Amino acid sequence: MDDGKPWWEAKRLEEMDASEWERLCDGCGLCCLVRFEDEDTGDVIPTRVHCKLFDSGACRCTNYENRKAHVPDCIQLTPGNIEALAWMPKSCAYRRLHEGRGLAWWHPLVSGDPETVHTAGVSVRGQTVSEDSLEDPEDALDFEAPDLLDERGTD
Ligand code: SF4
Ligand code: SF4
Repeated sequence: MDDGKPWWEAKRLEEMDASEWERLCDGCGLCCLVRFEDEDTGDVIPTRVHCKLFDSGACRCTNYENRKAHVPDCIQLTPGNIEALAWMPKSCAYRRLHEGRGLAWWHPLVSGDPETVHTAGVSVRGQTVSEDSLEDPEDALDFEAPDLLDERGTD
């Protein structure tokens, strides 16, 4: 069935097991940013403010296993809620595969190097501040960064 293809090309998203599903994440951190929805257009606008559990330097969640207990609205992608992909950046591995665009060269599964998502300029490593550092959550509006979700990493 796989014609020698790697599993992320041979399987549909809903056919992947839990380990494959987790490994699909490229570690970009884009989904850990505070976002706003434009009421007029419905567009999702990210900010350079990250979730309180996100480690900006390491570019990963500091409590991934128990994150829902601390951040109930963390979007937990599963094969059963693909519709949540509408909130994900175009570069997101899950969204790319769902839309038939395949994984990019910088994806760690393709490159074999977890650094390439960073060196290719796709990740937000070292570019964000914590929501905990804001006096008022609404201050995140001052950090809007629509460029983060546009064409970043869509090659
Ligand atoms: S946007 Fe997608 S690929 Fe990037 S960290 Fe989030 S789930 Fe992983
Ligand atoms: S809880 Fe973890 S995975 Fe969820 S948005 Fe926050 S840092 Fe990201």
